[in-house]
Amino acid sequence: MSGPAVGHRSADGVEIVTGWGRNPASAARVVRPTDADELAVAAKAAGPRGAIARGLGRAYGDSAMNAGGLVVSSTGVSGLLDLDHSRGTARVLAGTSLDGLLRAIVPEGWFLPVTPGTRYITVGGAIAADVHGKDHHASGSFGAHVQSLVLGLPDGTRRTLTPDHDADEFWATCGGMGMTGTVVEATIRLHPIETSLLRVDTDQVPDLDTLLTLLSEGGRRYRYSVAWVDVLARGRSLGRSVLLQGDFARLDELAGAHRRIRPREREPLAYDTVPPVPMPRAVPGGLLNKGSILAFNELWYRLHPRRRRDELQSISRFFYPLDLLDGWNQMYGPRGFLQWQCMLPFGTEGVLRYVVESLANHRAPSFLAVLKYFGAADPAPLTFAGPGWTLALDVPTTDSTLGPLLDRLDNQVADAGGRLYLAKDSRLRPELLPVMYPRLDEWRAVRDRLDPDRRLNSDLARRLKLLG
Ligand SMILES: Cc1cc2nc3c(=O)[nH]c(=O)nc-3n(C[C@H](O)[C@H](O)[C@H](O)COP(=O)(O)OP(=O)(O)OC[C@H]3O[C@@H](n4cnc5c(N)ncnc54)[C@H](O)[C@@H]3O)c2cc1C
Repeated sequence: MSGPAVGHRSADGVEIVTGWGRNPASAARVVRPTDADELAVAAKAAGPRGAIARGLGRAYGDSAMNAGGLVVSSTGVSGLLDLDHSRGTARVLAGTSLDGLLRAIVPEGWFLPVTPGTRYITVGGAIAADVHGKDHHASGSFGAHVQSLVLGLPDGTRRTLTPDHDADEFWATCGGMGMTGTVVEATIRLHPIETSLLRVDTDQVPDLDTLLTLLSEGGRRYRYSVAWVDVLARGRSLGRSVLLQGDFARLDELAGAHRRIRPREREPLAYDTVPPVPMPRAVPGGLLNKGSILAFNELWYRLHPRRRRDELQSISRFFYPLDLLDGWNQMYGPRGFLQWQCMLPFGTEGVLRYVVESLANHRAPSFLAVLKYFGAADPAPLTFAGPGWTLALDVPTTDSTLGPLLDRLDNQVADAGGRLYLAKDSRLRPELLPVMYPRLDEWRAVRDRLDPDRRLNSDLARRLKLLG
């Protein structure tokens, strides 16, 4: 097989494929079906290295990559097929981006049941990673809101799965990282909204203990909560953060506040679609060093008010601040970066403190980390979110001293009954997978029923020995 450069395609359709972290990279033949029938059967053309579905490539690591094999891109198969106001459901093709869906449903008074921190993912990717949002404590993961899905199997057949009639196959697909088949379409339950603005409370939080207390208390009052943590702060400031908590504003809550809203947002259900600002072409190599990140994190903390109540924020600003800078993943340079995201069960706060302390003492060169908390897990054997805390941070891959530290933290997380998020991972050691995901064998048995010839495969699956 020839070896094209990133962004180029050889005559036989081979491309270099990466995740959002741009590291690692591998070459695969990429096909781009343009209708649902083609998408459903595309994996049948897999050769010995197998096939894997791909959405918008927002998973950070190697889950939508397949070195030497076939990658089936779903993004040409997108669109809202039906919006049922009486049932509050949307039937959508799997390659539809959450952004595309929001454009159609927000003006109609609906929001996504669950959204991650970017709107540039597909519905198929949301199901395959069983994604979580800032409201997991209130809403659970994405899969919990899928009423039914159509799965294209690698033998060319198609199955409609519902959680009531095909529970094993349905839940193996939610969180199954594309390894049970290609999601072709799904019907999802939506969340009703009266306005497209959020009423947000902001607090500067001085340390980790205060943060965990505020997050636990806030869960009873707010639907959405997220903390941006300065992982470079140490000592008494360990875990200092900016905590944002809120919910969609009701119509009657806009009346007094309306004057402060920008004109284009005056329509109560307007979907604010601020176009992303392009990333500057050349970011000086030396810009991302510990000094500049330290200064940025300090500035971010200080720029937020100590305490602010009932600020109205748009969907873009509250849910998707990172989307405002187009291609921000290039900021880390050609060698890319990785994200480390763990879940630690309630009761293991000592381990969480140890993790934050270790990263702070290492001076991990990370822009703000995100800390959230999760509610009950859905029935998916490989779902990431479950009752506990989650911490996510980006680090450049150029810091060679970070590997051994993250390996040690992986062990701590596994020992504490926690896990790493497969949609973010590019470096976990395979021996920790069954410890972190104790229902792995149950998932494997269902998966093998759906794909007995093992035609589905991915770089992540090979690296982590996902299939056993
Ligand atoms: C800035 C940013 C913020 C994020 N925030 C969050 C967050 O808050 N919460 C969270 O849970 N995640 C978060 N993520 C991760 C992201 O939501 C998931 O990785 C999601 O799966 C990406 O979807 P995608 O369409 O880009 O899929 P890809 O990245 O292309 O693929 C991801 C996985 O889905 C599978 N897949 C894709 N399409 C299909 C299909 N049609 N059928 C079967 N399998 C398929 C692939 O095989 C792969 O295993 C974030 C990512 C970024 C870049």
